[in-house]
Amino acid sequence: MLVFMKHGFDVLILGAGASGLMCAAELRRNSRLNIGVIEGNSVAGKKLAISGGGRCNITNIEVSPEHFLGEDAFVAEVFEHFGNEDLLNYLHRHAIALELRKERYYFCREGAKAIVALLLQRAGGTDFFYDTHIHSVTPIPQGYRVHTDRGDFDAATLVIATGGESYRSIGASAIGIKLAQELQLQTTPFTPALVGLTLQKEQFWMKTLSGTSCNVRIRVGNKCIEEEMLFAHKGISGPAVLSASLYWSKGEIEIDFLPHEELHVFLNSKKLLSTALPLSKRFMKTFLEHIGVEDMPGHRLNASMLMRLKRLKSYTFAPAGNFGFSKAEVSRGGIDVCELDARTLMSRRHANLYCIGEVVDITGELGGYNFQWAFSSATVCARHICKKN
Ligand SMILES: Cc1cc2nc3c(=O)[nH]c(=O)nc-3n(C[C@H](O)[C@H](O)[C@H](O)COP(=O)(O)OP(=O)(O)OC[C@H]3O[C@@H](n4cnc5c(N)ncnc54)[C@H](O)[C@@H]3O)c2cc1C
Repeated sequence: MLVFMKHGFDVLILGAGASGLMCAAELRRNSRLNIGVIEGNSVAGKKLAISGGGRCNITNIEVSPEHFLGEDAFVAEVFEHFGNEDLLNYLHRHAIALELRKERYYFCREGAKAIVALLLQRAGGTDFFYDTHIHSVTPIPQGYRVHTDRGDFDAATLVIATGGESYRSIGASAIGIKLAQELQLQTTPFTPALVGLTLQKEQFWMKTLSGTSCNVRIRVGNKCIEEEMLFAHKGISGPAVLSASLYWSKGEIEIDFLPHEELHVFLNSKKLLSTALPLSKRFMKTFLEHIGVEDMPGHRLNASMLMRLKRLKSYTFAPAGNFGFSKAEVSRGGIDVCELDARTLMSRRHANLYCIGEVVDITGELGGYNFQWAFSSATVCARHICKKN
């Protein structure tokens, strides 16, 4: 195997994903620094390229800390310097056409690969080291030495942009946490988030609805998410469940299967419940069987039946677990924000060490929030490196 001799860089970026690419692109455009990027895959931006079904949900009409798990003030500070309007302007300036879905999600019309291509083009002149797996890091007098399976790399400034642990099949790893720990930074272990939830036996009735969906409101703790929920073979999924999973680790969640309706409105009808209620017949028949109520006109329900039917508005249960890292869109956890300055993303402990993107313990809901975070944190970091140099 080819083993590189020691490389010296002004800035070394670890990971050529969304945040690493944006950081390299911004540094190249705004400085004359000598930049290297180390990436385990043979190409850049693999996760970015498959995201949003290949169309990349890049941001949202409304981006604020309430859509993130993590310290609000930290998130707000970063977005103040580079928020969704800044990202939209950036994409517009570079002729990336977007489309708005469900009146809130921005998707890339020409496909996610157009974003990867744009960032690679803007990062032109950067030294990319592909198929190179990062193992560890040590501080040295001139900066940092990164040890890889293809030799050591030295740099005055180091940017950790190695992402989270979800989708290991396309190169994801927990190396960012290991590197941070080697540098004595506080970390929280990664756990799967934006992921489907598995069910206990009591809720297996939902599995029989596999392949169908409905609009719901899910409550987890003090968070309320309204979106589509998908019944899956393994449990429950779809946008509502994925976002809810961000805030769930154990305990109960509550689902309102009729988020915009009052139940009593439909109970005076002479029609059978499965026809009168604005839910699919298949759903209603399965639900009624689960709660042990016959399909009958609403006015014939006795008090006990009515009470059970009311569970449609507040179905409370404890999921068994989640679908795991192989299905999770992101990883919760990472490098604690107390270690970083939100104005720069630089370590408070080590000069010229930066952490950006998903490796930082900030995680967004479904809806373009995670790319917004990756691009915002990368831009704030790159601007500070340029300013310092
Ligand atoms: C299927 C899927 C769909 C998604 N869709 C969306 C979406 O539509 N909208 C949205 O906002 N978010 C989406 N996300 C989440 C989003 O992709 C991530 O939050 C974002 O890519 C994080 O950027 P990052 O730069 O921090 O990490 P990444 O983009 O994951 O980049 C990290 C890079 O580091 C490299 N790396 C890791 N370990 C090593 C190592 N040991 N050695 C060398 N290199 C290493 C990886 O190969 C990777 O290229 C999706 C995620 C998945 C899995």
